[in-house]
Amino acid sequence: MDHLSHALDEALLSNLECPVCTEYMVPLINLCTNGHNICSKCREKVQCCPTCTAEFSNIRNVTLENIARRQRYPCANRQSGCLHLFSIEHIAEHEAFCTYGKIVCPLRKVNVECHWRGFKCDFEEHAKAEHPTYILRSPKFVSRLLRGSAALVLCFGEVFLYNKVVRDGKYYCVVQLIGPRSEASKYKCEFKLYVANSIEQISKTFTVRSYVEDFETSFNSGKCLRLDDVVVRHFVLEEELSLTITLSKV
Ligand SMILES: [Zn+2]
Ligand SMILES: [Zn+2]
Ligand SMILES: [Zn+2]
Ligand SMILES: [Zn+2]
Repeated sequence: MDHLSHALDEALLSNLECPVCTEYMVPLINLCTNGHNICSKCREKVQCCPTCTAEFSNIRNVTLENIARRQRYPCANRQSGCLHLFSIEHIAEHEAFCTYGKIVCPLRKVNVECHWRGFKCDFEEHAKAEHPTYILRSPKFVSRLLRGSAALVLCFGEVFLYNKVVRDGKYYCVVQLIGPRSEASKYKCEFKLYVANSIEQISKTFTVRSYVEDFETSFNSGKCLRLDDVVVRHFVLEEELSLTITLSKV
């Protein structure tokens, strides 16, 4: 990008800043009756326009929304040195894993009380020091418990979060990469249930999900293991399950 168009971009970006929260506005962008803009999050919180105290209309600023969709936004970690630009759809995911930014301990997603916040590249060390009981080091492991369980799987130079939830007569199992979707899709996960005679078995394979996705989304998407309790019961021997999980590269 040449110097002039870069300067124009900065001017355009400043027009996209919400006057209340100063974050960049993304669609939907509402107008007050005098034509001032506000982001949708702040619109819900204020009674009148913070710029002129006029009322808000239901009119959207479609032109600005279109500009916002086409605009490339700087990463929130620009001050720390990340110079990448992203479209609206991609910036949140990038920021969740930007090497100049920090993540919270992923085990918080499985209700582990941990206040660690740090760089993604430091998470493995943190996990080894603070959560050794959750760590598995093989891409193939067996989940024997009939109740929910979670683990951190260290393999392929990555960290994966395994989670099994039993709820309303259903078993849900998912593996998420502590990384963006673009990296997660490079891995697949096979879930295999079998009985001692090895004749009967269930095997399902799914693409690994990204940790940016919440578990409810994974569970509801149909892109993770979901089995009825009655089916799982058939594969129980002495109150133990032989659910084998195998991670591999696509
Ligand atoms: Zn705002
Ligand atoms: Zn106004
Ligand atoms: Zn960044
Ligand atoms: Zn932690």
